[in-house]
Amino acid sequence: MNEIARIFETLDYGPAPEGPEQANAWLDAHDRKFGHFIDGKWTRPGKTFSSDNPATGESLAQISMGSEDDVNAAVKAARAAFKGWSALSGYERGKYLYAIARAIQKHARLFAVLETLDNGKPIRESRDIDIPLVARHFYHHAGWAQHLSREFPDAVPYGVCGQIIPWNFPLLMLAWKIAPALAAGNTVILKPAEFTSLTALLFAEICERVGLPKGVVNIVTGEGGTGQAITAHAGIDKIAFTGSTEVGKAIRAVTAGSGKGLSLELGGKSPYIVFEDADIDSAIEGLIDAIWFNQGQVCCAGSRLLVQESIEARFITKLKKRMASLRVGDPLDKSIDIGAMIAPVQVERIKDLMKRGVAEGADIYEPDGQLPSRGCFLKPALVTNVSPANTLVAEEIFGPVLVAMSFRTPEEAVQLANNTKYGLAATIWSENINLALDIAPQIKAGVVWINGTNNFDAAVGFGGYKESGYGREGGREGMSAYLKPAWEKELKAVPVAKAVEPRAGNPLDTGHLDQTAKMYIGGKQARPDSGYSRAVLDPSGKLIGEVGDGNRKDIRNAVEAARAALGWSTTPAHTRAQILYFLAENLDYRRDEFAARLKLQTGEDGTEEVALSVERLFAFAGWADKYDGAVHNPPLRAVAAAMIEPLGVIGIVAPNARPLLGSIALLAPALAMGNPVVLVPSGTSPLSLTDLYQVIETSDVPNGVINIVTGDSVALAKTLAEHDGVDGLWFVGSADASAMVEKASTSNLKQTWTSRGLEFDLSNRRFEGDYFLAKATQVKNVWIPYGA
Ligand code: NDP
Repeated sequence: MNEIARIFETLDYGPAPEGPEQANAWLDAHDRKFGHFIDGKWTRPGKTFSSDNPATGESLAQISMGSEDDVNAAVKAARAAFKGWSALSGYERGKYLYAIARAIQKHARLFAVLETLDNGKPIRESRDIDIPLVARHFYHHAGWAQHLSREFPDAVPYGVCGQIIPWNFPLLMLAWKIAPALAAGNTVILKPAEFTSLTALLFAEICERVGLPKGVVNIVTGEGGTGQAITAHAGIDKIAFTGSTEVGKAIRAVTAGSGKGLSLELGGKSPYIVFEDADIDSAIEGLIDAIWFNQGQVCCAGSRLLVQESIEARFITKLKKRMASLRVGDPLDKSIDIGAMIAPVQVERIKDLMKRGVAEGADIYEPDGQLPSRGCFLKPALVTNVSPANTLVAEEIFGPVLVAMSFRTPEEAVQLANNTKYGLAATIWSENINLALDIAPQIKAGVVWINGTNNFDAAVGFGGYKESGYGREGGREGMSAYLKPAWEKELKAVPVAKAVEPRAGNPLDTGHLDQTAKMYIGGKQARPDSGYSRAVLDPSGKLIGEVGDGNRKDIRNAVEAARAALGWSTTPAHTRAQILYFLAENLDYRRDEFAARLKLQTGEDGTEEVALSVERLFAFAGWADKYDGAVHNPPLRAVAAAMIEPLGVIGIVAPNARPLLGSIALLAPALAMGNPVVLVPSGTSPLSLTDLYQVIETSDVPNGVINIVTGDSVALAKTLAEHDGVDGLWFVGSADASAMVEKASTSNLKQTWTSRGLEFDLSNRRFEGDYFLAKATQVKNVWIPYGA
């Protein structure tokens, strides 16, 4: 049989290699040796390391190892450039971003080939997905630059941003970081991953070519140590990181108390749920993209197949057949499905994980066929016969390994899907739109794809829930991650309050019977676990009452009660609004009594504070059904519904001053957005909050939605910060205690807001709006394709 007849017969692909000549010529033109790009100039290469082609093991170039001095120089350049860059009009900055977008399009093929050489991903992906998305990102953000002052009127850029990115989408992650930062008026120092610096260096040349002002973009190459020098640098105002959850946690700990902005885009173990009524062939094609795109080295890879039991056998049989047709090999070949893994160390890591999974009882299927004789290649693998505790189910593998499990009912699917510390993405396949749209809000993940997968667009925010990090990239949410309120810089340090000394004798002469206020947990008054109480003094040191001295156990009970009340998040916004209005009404009814109690505790007339507290409850009752999402129109036949969802359980440690308003100003936005709360009221003047129990009880607040634990604010804040059942924590207190809270929050990466010892005047009406609403919520983007 001649060759043509054979191809007709077998329908085999012939080789279709993309030529590496131009990329090699570019590398040769640089003598295959690169310095850093700092202050618009190239440094002379110093200590270097090799960047290798993972498909061949050959060295592509020598890259400079960024030292502390290099990072210092880059921060200095970025700082110097910030003034001019942020002072440009949005239109001027937009023109630079547009020029970058155009230049990337013009050099798209060179970028794609270089990316594939350096990273090992199939050229089909770098050419058709990575690079077009990079250009799209710069286009999109050119528009944000121009419209910034209209859309974010009270916001200013952070200043100098340190950005650290991984190796799986080298240029795309660069674009996700640099485009919004520059649009907002920040300057940047970006460190690419050690394995993949080349396209970042080519990008630096693009910056030179479009005449970007020097120092606006600085690229410092290097390893983890270079990243550490960036995260610890006192001259950097914001850190944006994409990478492993482990390093993300380390960065959270290092930046605690520094006042740096922080966004983290971390790992995932995303469920891919297939219901029995799904279009099975489409679901299989989607799954191929979900897990074998970029060799599975994708943070949002659909790595956990959850398939309904009734179709499991048929689905797995079809899947295995399809897996056998996947072509693994030379990434530069245009008809290759699976290219090379990033590096030998990653191949070994994955093999070790698979061995552990097998030792724990897993079965592994890999199709027949030979892998290339050299380079970092792995076959696609399907893991079955696993329990949720199996290492391969629980750990992020970051490789071409799919783990399959089955479920019987939609409820079980949701439980399995959420049974992970991660929450980056999820996919749902069903021909029943009612079912799909019922499941999507129940999945704890930042992105949900319905009947599709791995859709990305610059206009649609991307980012995680839980230990997948916080902050979003793309869209409005992504822009706000690079901006901060202009008024923040005017905040002064809170003057140190003089401790009130108890008066000698301390007779309890308030004219009332001796009374120790209890805690309020799960809708009931509860005695403190310790059995101890704390004295409440007036400003002159006279004992005016006692409250329970809360401890870890009380916090645990309160968190348990709050978690049991998570149904509050699905209570209709209209109902939440009514309850907040009712709270306001009942507080107002007793305003004279509360004002008198405030006078007793603070020595000041409490009338205005009560009135403001009522007004604040009204304000957030008004917001409950208005602070909502958006519908995006990405450039494909789909809409993406940006849904605003509550964080979960929020811990609140309120200020000592303004004891009623301080608590209400934080409680009201958290409640309005659907978060049950554990509140630690003013440590010095908690009586207004313990008086509030009756108001709460008469206002139809469901049990467990508001829990109040009195005691030592800092000690209770630490317990809340360390508690994995708390999803967000707001803390008003000293700079040191704020740093402690941020550091202690790393265990489950809860989102924190701390006052850092600064004077946040919560009576200011600027806190009636989206400042705390944004902190009480997270955005989930649900992609819904259409087309008959
Ligand atoms: P890392 O999180 O270690 O690396 C991400 C980036 O951070 C790289 O630029 C890295 O530098 C840098 N870095 C490493 N340590 C520090 C540090 N202490 N402080 C500051 N920066 C640091 O991911 P890896 O590349 O090592 O991959 C390990 C695993 O992480 C993967 O197998 C995968 O499970 C997960 N991962 C998840 C990603 C995601 O998108 N969610 C992306 C990449 C990895 P350098 O590479 O030069 O060491």
